[in-house]
Amino acid sequence: MARKFFVGGNFKMNGTISSITEIVENLNKAQLDPNTETVIAPPALYLLLVREHAKKEIGVAAQNVFDKPNGAFTGEISVSQLKDSGIDWVILGHSERRTILAESDQVVASKTKYATENGVSVIWCCGESLDQREAGKTLEVIASQLAALKAQVSDWSKIVIAYEPIWAIGTGKVATTQQAQEVHASIRAWLAKEVSEAVADQTRILYGGSVSEKNCKDLSKEKDIDGFLVGGASLKPAFVDIINSKLS
Ligand code: PEP
Repeated sequence: MARKFFVGGNFKMNGTISSITEIVENLNKAQLDPNTETVIAPPALYLLLVREHAKKEIGVAAQNVFDKPNGAFTGEISVSQLKDSGIDWVILGHSERRTILAESDQVVASKTKYATENGVSVIWCCGESLDQREAGKTLEVIASQLAALKAQVSDWSKIVIAYEPIWAIGTGKVATTQQAQEVHASIRAWLAKEVSEAVADQTRILYGGSVSEKNCKDLSKEKDIDGFLVGGASLKPAFVDIINSKLS
């Protein structure tokens, strides 16, 4: 089964009502490749604004969700509240939440389980630090993040994996096509061995880390790169070129 190319835009903690409306209007006007699934993730405060304004072909993702039903959890947002607001996706396990907010592999897996079991799809992020890469531990680190996910999740159909080397996020240092393809292939091989051939074949594996309109085309040609998770460049008009990277 062919995997549909997927491009996510992670706005992180950026934007205003006016700038986010402008980004959405720009995407609404643009000719987006119908063979690419596009999902944008504004800050929580702007989710409803974006869902109301974005054309229906564009999916909307939260940048976090809690792993409990509605109740006494001050400051959190629930899966049912996302669904009530027409938000079908959430980014979980982003390295900024793993490092700055100290979210463990287990917490990320628990949130992923709760979201997917209750009808919200997950862009699940993994990736190594520079020290880990230089110590030759990249594949080991990713395998252990995946193992923590597998320990809690049984339905992989609502998960898109984003491989995001931490050293490439927001730094302008993009992984080479060869470095990215190597890790993507190893993630797919891990899925085949530890989950199933079908899940390995069907799961989309995105690359994230300083993707731009300049490097996206080469990356998109790699066999195991099924799309991108884009941070900084998703706030710019050139995001359209990244969404359309498969078009010649
Ligand atoms: C991200 O935040 O997921 C990301 C990949 O950021 P950037 O594209 O800015 O490196």
